[in-house]
Order: sequence, then C-alpha cells, then structure tokens
Amino acid sequence: MSSNDSTAKEQSFLFNVNKIFLVIHLLMLFMFSSLGVDLMAGVSLISICFYFLAFSLTKSEKLSIYVYSVAVEILLYMILAVVCLGIQCNFQLFLIDAMFFLFSMDYVVLRKKKNHVAILLCCVYAIALIILYMLDGFYAPLYKLDSVVIKSISIAMISGVVFLIITCMMCLLHFMSSEEGAMEKQAQFDALTELPNRFYMMAKLKNLFEAEKQGEYFLAMIDIDDFKKINDSFGHNVGDDALKMLARTIVNKARGVELSYCRWGGEEFLLLGKCVDGEVPKNFLDELRVEINSKSFWTSKGSGRMTVTIGAGKYKVGQDYKEWINFVDKQLYVGKCTGKNKVVC
Ligand code: GH3
Ligand code: MG
Ligand code: MG
Repeated sequence: MSSNDSTAKEQSFLFNVNKIFLVIHLLMLFMFSSLGVDLMAGVSLISICFYFLAFSLTKSEKLSIYVYSVAVEILLYMILAVVCLGIQCNFQLFLIDAMFFLFSMDYVVLRKKKNHVAILLCCVYAIALIILYMLDGFYAPLYKLDSVVIKSISIAMISGVVFLIITCMMCLLHFMSSEEGAMEKQAQFDALTELPNRFYMMAKLKNLFEAEKQGEYFLAMIDIDDFKKINDSFGHNVGDDALKMLARTIVNKARGVELSYCRWGGEEFLLLGKCVDGEVPKNFLDELRVEINSKSFWTSKGSGRMTVTIGAGKYKVGQDYKEWINFVDKQLYVGKCTGKNKVVC
C-alpha cells in the first residue's frame, strides 16, 4: 500500500466523520432555534460554517489541523451549551464522545507523528467536565426551560452520545480491518514488480508438501545475466524498469498454464509449475527465456535488452523444499558458469 493510498483512506474516513459532525450541528441548530435559545442557535450556525469549511481541510494534507480544530470546537460548543441550558441537559457528555473521537483519530491520522496531543486534549476535556459539575448549583443557566423539556433534551443527548460512541467504534474497526487486509497483502507482494514475494512462494511450497503433491511439480530460478552492468551503465531506475518488464513477461507467460511465480529477491525470480509428461517443460522455459530477451527497455542511450539464465529441476524424493530450491540454484550456477543465457534442467 503506497503512502498515497493510505492518505486517501484517511481523507475519506475524516470526510465521513465531518459529515456526521455537520448533521449533528444542523440538528442542534434546529433544536436551539425551536427552543428560542438564540445564543446557541447563533453558535451552531458558526459551527456549521466551520464544518463546511473543514471539508477542505479533510481533502488537503492538513489532517492533524482538522482533528485539533474539531476537538477545540466540540469543547467550546459543549461548554457554551451547558452555560446556556445547565448541566441537566447533558451536553457535557459529548466531551466523552470527543475522547473516543480523539483516540480514533490518534490511530487513523496522528499516530505517525508520535505525539501525545490526544492524551493532553482528553485531560483538558476531563478537567472541563469536573469543573462543569463542580460549578453546578453556583450559577443559573442563561435560558430557563421547562423541566419536561430539560428531561427530553437530556434523553436525546444521552441517545446521541451512545449513538456516536457506537458509530465511532464501528468506523474505527472498519478502518483497522481494511488496514490489516492491506498490510497482509503488502507482506506477500513485492512493491517494485508487484509480483508475489518469497514469503508467498514459501507458503505455497509448504502447502504443496502438506498435500504431498510436490512430485508433480518443477521449480525454476530465473536470474538476469550481468544485471549489475545494466545498473552501472544506465542507472538504477533503468535497472528497476528492466525488472518490471521481466515481471510482466513472466505474468503474461503464466496465463492459461498452472504456474506460480515470485520475485525471490534482487534480480532473481522463482517459478513453480506442473511438470509436463512427468518432466520439466524445457521448451516452455526456453520460450520464456527468448521472450524476455526479445523485449526492450528504454535507457538514456536508446533501447536495451537483457538475457536470463534459468536453473530448473523437478522434485526428487527425499528433498525438503529448501533442498529443492538449493538444487535449482545450483543448476542456475551451472548455467552461469557455462556461458549464461540458457536453461539448465
Ligand atoms: P550474473 O550474470 O552472474 O547474475 O551477474 P549479475 O551482475 O546479474 O549479478 P550480481 O549478483 O553481481 O548483481 C546483481 C545486481 O542486482 C546487484 C544489485 O545492485 C542489483 N539489484 C538487486 N535488486 C535490485 C533492484 O531492486 N533494482 C535494481 N535496479 N537493481 C537491483
Ligand atoms: Mg543473482
Ligand atoms: Mg544476475
């Protein structure tokens, strides 16, 4: 998973979070306007403008600024709501919601910065909550409401807080499981060529041995000839292009046949395929060798070509998979010592 992909995921996560905050403030605006609490209706309007503008923050790379500004907005908004309508209406409970929000954001956005702002802000919320409860009874709310209305608001706020905690936790779990999936994929694929990597192939071989089917298969190690010279003459980027081109050729050649492949490491690729008539399909591997050589990659000095040597072998009774790989590696070595650009099986 590229860093662009992960930023896009974070952005879309925050975009959805922002939508939820916007809807909550619209509902608050409606409630405060109908109750005639003009001050909070005005504050809600300002907050709604803030959340509209915040969409652009979620789209830009300033995700941490978004999180901090939302955290401050929630703090101020809920304190003002308590000052206006009193603690009995339970607006202060949204500060507990905000703690869940901050820790979720800490995982989604802020974790890369390794800071402790979430903990600090949670402490501020806790202090604000304690002060609000301590001051209860020492001041009269700015707006006096009927006790039935206060009870209704209180129940609505508790429902809202529970709904938000559940939504926040569900979104976080969804985000974590999609991250987990991406990391699993990342652990089994090579970033440059996008081919499976050696861990994928080792798992594949283990499964083959467990099913006791290895006797029907061959392994082939492909190694680019004089690859160091390609890097030295044309640069590492051209070397990378050559590796990608080789990977594409293998993928195309594997279409329609039972063949697994991986980038084993560096400029080496390992194939695992089914034997044909009980033997290593030398013609098939030779065709692949010729196809690789027929493809050109671009360099600053015009097009370039590469040759490969392939060492192959079918499974021999008694080998474990490491010994089998060692055997094809030796076959490859024989090819390298006897002129390269050939298949040895
Ligand atoms: P031989 O014909 O004996 O295989 O010679 P060689 O030059 O291909 O082999 P050698 O092992 O001497 O060099 C392999 C080179 O592959 C060295 C290393 O810098 C290069 N290489 C390994 N991984 C990468 C990569 O991801 N990108 C690029 N551009 N080069 C790589
Ligand atoms: Mg090599
Ligand atoms: Mg090589």
